[in-house]
Amino acid sequence: MWQAEVRVDLDAIRENVSRLRSGTGAELMAVVKADGYGHGMVPAARAALDGGADWLGVCTLDEALGLRAAGITVPVLAWLLAPGLPLHEGVAAGVDLGVASLSQLDEMIEASRRAGRPARLHLKIDTGLSRGGATVADWPALLDAAAKAQADGVVEVVGVWSHFVYADMPGHPTTDRQLAVFHEGLAMVERAGLRPRYRHLANSAATLTRPDTHFDLVRPGIAVYGLSPVAGETYGLRPAMTARARVMLTKRVAAGSGVSYGHTYTTERDANLAVVPLGYADGVPRHASNSGPVQLGGRRRTISGRVCMDQFVLDCGDDPVAAGDVVTLFGSGADGEPTADDWAEAVGTINYEIVTRFGGSRVPRVYDGERP
Ligand SMILES: *Cc1c(COP(=O)(O)O)cnc(C)c1O
Repeated sequence: MWQAEVRVDLDAIRENVSRLRSGTGAELMAVVKADGYGHGMVPAARAALDGGADWLGVCTLDEALGLRAAGITVPVLAWLLAPGLPLHEGVAAGVDLGVASLSQLDEMIEASRRAGRPARLHLKIDTGLSRGGATVADWPALLDAAAKAQADGVVEVVGVWSHFVYADMPGHPTTDRQLAVFHEGLAMVERAGLRPRYRHLANSAATLTRPDTHFDLVRPGIAVYGLSPVAGETYGLRPAMTARARVMLTKRVAAGSGVSYGHTYTTERDANLAVVPLGYADGVPRHASNSGPVQLGGRRRTISGRVCMDQFVLDCGDDPVAAGDVVTLFGSGADGEPTADDWAEAVGTINYEIVTRFGGSRVPRVYDGERP
């Protein structure tokens, strides 16, 4: 018997990757950072590889080493690296590393010496996001230093890359401007005498809507998990995550009863209340108070009152509800249940945040479609 669970359909991940892979002539890096967007990094990675992914992408060195520790040997890129990390462990494990500054490059050179083999580097240019990446002004110096380190046999420049601002709004002019800056950056790469095998720029949105940005490798994340980066479109993807719980307790209360902390909800009539054992410690946003949608007894309902740390309440009116009944917060939508998109809409965020919140919580994750 389970009380609450996050179910992850690995077949959905396989199919989504296979669909994305067949839509491009480029190689595909499945992004499995942040515990696979809450789906479980290693099971998601294995399913993505089954579906045809060629690479895996993560943020931290620890995530990359976690993939290697699980016995995964495909190319892995890690790109969020603060100073002072044991990068030589990554180099020794054959992890590709993102580089955006001269000081990072110096650290990678040192790490290569310590590991006794050349670090595999992906030089990142900031084409307009103003987040990671070297500015266009700093780009030539980074390229020259990297070219020199490569000529010395200390590092290997495997890739050149950047990241989009606005690809989730197809037709936004920023995307074209960034693409133009990327092309300029690539011309400078050539002038510096570098011929990296991989040029990459496309996230899920660009993978789905802008084939002219695919270059040699695409880096979809959210689409791998079956969610669309573009509002109102599904692209035939199938959401992999379902979050559900069983009603813990039911009771009949009188009209005018205040419900949950702060009494932000009051019953209009005599009502059956259902207490659901999931709260913000489990990933349910507290912002879903009086707004989060669920399915119970074949009907859509809305959370009544505050979401607490561990539980929330549903006003079920006169509907018969019983302890043990299943409450689905979100799933693929195939059985009429809300989706992560419905939750995002209800609480003013994006589907990415909804699924990621359920990673690493105390709710057990259960996998469908596991392969030996
Ligand atoms: C997270 C991330 C991605 C994947 O983005 P999605 O929008 O989830 O497809 C790709 N590249 C980088 C650099 C990222 O940080």
